[in-house]
Amino acid sequence: MPLFSGISLNIPDTDKPRVVIIGGGFGGLYAAHNLDSSKFQIVLFDKRNYHTFQPLLYQVATAGLQADAIAGPLRTTFKKKKNFFFRLLRVQKIDPDEKLVFTSSGSLHYDYLIIANGCRSNFYGDEMMEKFSFPMKSIPDALNLRSQLMQTFEMAGLVKDPAKQRDLLSIVIVGGGPTGVETAGALSELRKHVLPKDYPDVDFSNMHIHLVQSGNFLLAGMAEKSCKRAYADLTKMGVEVILNSKVSSYDGYTATLTNGQTIATSTLIWSAGVKGDVIPGLKPEWIDHNKLVVDNHCKVVGSDGIFALGDIAILRTDKYPNGLPGVAQPAIQMGTYVGKNLCKIQNNEPLKDFKYFDKGSLATIGKGKAVCDLPNKKAFGGLLAWMIWAFVHITFLVSFKNRVKVFINWVWNYLTYDTGNRLIIRPYIRTNDRVAEKIVKDNEYSS
Ligand SMILES: Cc1cc2nc3c(=O)[nH]c(=O)nc-3n(C[C@H](O)[C@H](O)[C@H](O)COP(=O)(O)OP(=O)(O)OC[C@H]3O[C@@H](n4cnc5c(N)ncnc54)[C@H](O)[C@@H]3O)c2cc1C
Repeated sequence: MPLFSGISLNIPDTDKPRVVIIGGGFGGLYAAHNLDSSKFQIVLFDKRNYHTFQPLLYQVATAGLQADAIAGPLRTTFKKKKNFFFRLLRVQKIDPDEKLVFTSSGSLHYDYLIIANGCRSNFYGDEMMEKFSFPMKSIPDALNLRSQLMQTFEMAGLVKDPAKQRDLLSIVIVGGGPTGVETAGALSELRKHVLPKDYPDVDFSNMHIHLVQSGNFLLAGMAEKSCKRAYADLTKMGVEVILNSKVSSYDGYTATLTNGQTIATSTLIWSAGVKGDVIPGLKPEWIDHNKLVVDNHCKVVGSDGIFALGDIAILRTDKYPNGLPGVAQPAIQMGTYVGKNLCKIQNNEPLKDFKYFDKGSLATIGKGKAVCDLPNKKAFGGLLAWMIWAFVHITFLVSFKNRVKVFINWVWNYLTYDTGNRLIIRPYIRTNDRVAEKIVKDNEYSS
């Protein structure tokens, strides 16, 4: 009998209402935690078997943290939850009329559906950008970038000509939001404190870090004081910030900017936007700007028993006419709200409306440097902001083990600047990438 015959979802029948959750990100995780498993059967689908703490992806990419420090295995997270079933499957389609979700291993009926499958990178239709740039949306993305960076540093050690070294080492980061700013800061610290010791033969003054932002400010959306401070700190750290410009094309070797500038680089990091990843089958009238429109109970407007949370949902309020911000807190708060209130919904009891509580914004720039906007829009920066940033990020990591790992890594890095994750374990080969091809071919990595 073929090994994979007889595969099904293998979810037991139940007399309890079945809640299917799509996505074990912030929204799905908090919804599942807060659902009462004595009242519901809970089924969680995710295309990965771990929760990704996306705010620290840039540290994995820049060799500050190991990947497993920011990934929480979903089965372990819910090992004590009764009546809970995790299945490592991508939901391919939803039939809201029949109340079915479809996967490659079969379909499943739901009574309630919680859609929390987040966003994906948005390349705005630029196929070359999609093919050649490095997005940062998942752990595999971050590991690809880490390998690429380490490979190019190794390659630079084989090159004598300073102009060629510069072309190899130069990095372009597209998008001056928190991810772009944090990545630029981390790369600048790597360049100053770590790489010269690892590669004494390479002149790292040839490593130019360009951060390209289409608007007037970095960290658009944060208080003006924070935007200005991020700009000042990064420029002081030697990051070349290019404002009011976009990368109009990239072929894997040269980035062309709308201001006419061209930059030779084999590493272009794409942090310029995401878009909702709407699963096929949902009604077009429920979708707006690639997101699912929800009401004050986080229910998809016009649907029967479907809720949407976090990045995939658009909840318009007077304060947020374009929807809540695409950050972790709305996902966490919506997940908690739906998880806690589903019993009331089931019993047709009156519900209080969901209210988003803005806890402020944070972005780090480097060691001891961060900016913090309080909910009242007061802003400050520096060491205190950095300590708050570190505390908040550690608190929201998914498990105690991850918190300990990250804390130890940070203390070690703070004291020594020696980030210990610069191994090329899985070389990255991009189509048309001469650097990676040469490294892999010369060293027979694939054997
Ligand atoms: C690089 C980066 C840095 C960020 N930094 C910050 C920050 O500093 N602070 C902050 O507050 N926010 C930050 N964010 C935003 C924050 O991470 C998101 O807003 C938050 O993760 C949204 O949670 P979510 O549950 O909606 O989706 P996600 O956390 O993205 O989770 C979606 C889940 O759904 C799964 N999935 C997707 N499609 C399917 C499918 N078809 N079938 C099954 N499973 C599926 C995915 O595997 C994933 O586990 C950052 C995001 C990125 C990418």
